[in-house]
Amino acid sequence: MGCQGASRVWNGRTVLSFSSNDYLGLANDPYVVDACIEGARRYGSGAAASCLIDGYTKAHQELEQALAKFVARDRALVFSSGYMANLGILTTLADRHTSIYEDKLNHASLVDAALLSRANLYRYAHGDTDALHKNLSQQKDDAIVVSDAVFSMSGDIAPLTALSDICAEHATTLVVDDAHGLGVLGASGKGTLEHFGLNQQQVPVVMATLGKALGAFGAFVAGADDLIETLIQKARTYIYTTALPPPLVCAARASLEIIENDNTRRETLHKNINLFRSLVAEYDIPCLDSITAIQGMIVGDAKSAITLSEALLEEDLLVVAMRPPTVPPGTARLRIMLSAAHQEEHIVRLVKALAKRLPRTR
Ligand code: PMP
Repeated sequence: MGCQGASRVWNGRTVLSFSSNDYLGLANDPYVVDACIEGARRYGSGAAASCLIDGYTKAHQELEQALAKFVARDRALVFSSGYMANLGILTTLADRHTSIYEDKLNHASLVDAALLSRANLYRYAHGDTDALHKNLSQQKDDAIVVSDAVFSMSGDIAPLTALSDICAEHATTLVVDDAHGLGVLGASGKGTLEHFGLNQQQVPVVMATLGKALGAFGAFVAGADDLIETLIQKARTYIYTTALPPPLVCAARASLEIIENDNTRRETLHKNINLFRSLVAEYDIPCLDSITAIQGMIVGDAKSAITLSEALLEEDLLVVAMRPPTVPPGTARLRIMLSAAHQEEHIVRLVKALAKRLPRTR
């Protein structure tokens, strides 16, 4: 048994994991692992320099071209992690004279990115496009709107069509982080922008990670040629860090190939999501609304969430409790991560274990 997949060894015991971002089960796919090994043989274990010095290989170039084509953008640029990509985007596009508007539940890296850029940061209530619209109407400075596409602690999807319309009306740049949508959403797995049918003009800056559905590591930003050229020249988290290790570049490229040519993993994932949703409805388990691989069950206080997570672990079910400050106070929760690697019986087992522990109020 490897360290990835539905069953894994955790603290010395074999558990069924519902806590992995490996949504398509690609992290231990033999084709992906072989590509990673072959990448190491061909290029070495590390890039040994930043992209602009000597770390950029043919593998990086091919991955960027394949990613740009996949998400239907002019060009893509690979970063060493999603955190760094987000820092790179906002510190390049914003400065003290910019106002950045972020959804209150955006990922920490987007908040940190805004702080590092020295822009004025405004955080609108989750999904509140009316408030955003009102604020932008009174806005004098240059503004940027930034949103997760799929929210990482609740799995719900941002109202990206409305956000893009608002940004068009106010001539504001829209930046979208699709870390949890790529490979999962859209008719061909191209992500949340495909789900909504949003093109490069409507969402000029999209970022996604390679460490989740693609089962590798790293991230990329995609958009117009001049956006990418500006990032190459100015994004300090691109310029001043070692390039993504080539074996991981090759692994991500292999995963992308699988995603492009074979829908079955995504179909299995969505079958699992639908099964989970119908079972929690049947057992009356209160879960947040989500059609993505992230399913949240609010417990309330941190202690109760931990107790529930520990009780599940007693049954060899690994479901990590998310507590403040990662989630807002009073909303500690179990975050249940579904994957194409799960089998039907795994999901049934989890839901039955949850149902057994729910206070029966109805
Ligand atoms: N954005 C979102 C929405 C994320 O969930 C994460 C990782 N959890 C990141 C960015 C950061 O990506 P990475 O792990 O590649 O740094």
